[in-house]
Amino acid sequence: MHHYVTARLDESYTHLLTGQRVVRERHVAFEVVEPPDCNHHNGETICTECAPGWQLDYDFADPFAFARVDRVTVADLLAAGMLTVGATLVMDEDTATTAVVTDTGGLMLSDGRVFDNPSAAANAALTS
Ligand SMILES: [Zn+2]
Repeated sequence: MHHYVTARLDESYTHLLTGQRVVRERHVAFEVVEPPDCNHHNGETICTECAPGWQLDYDFADPFAFARVDRVTVADLLAAGMLTVGATLVMDEDTATTAVVTDTGGLMLSDGRVFDNPSAAANAALTS
């Protein structure tokens, strides 16, 4: 029997040049599997090893099969001094896709879209 957990990813962004705010969210279902059977990165399966990482960007609905961890946002990392405004982050090493940390705790892609959610920024960078 296959067991699934469902999650919501906030894909909202603001376009820096036009100021246009686009509110969007994606709903995802992860299949719960044992660690040896888990891809950990493709967003289709989840296990005890990768469950903490997914929770940093995804809001999981109840019932949730794993221990809950606190979300950490870009704004949190800025406040803690672990990131600086203007820093360039590598979103994808294969394509050398980068984003710049903004003073609002967002991640700006090269096309001017500013995302609050790192996973959403990475997805957008790779699909545009
Ligand atoms: Zn996993």
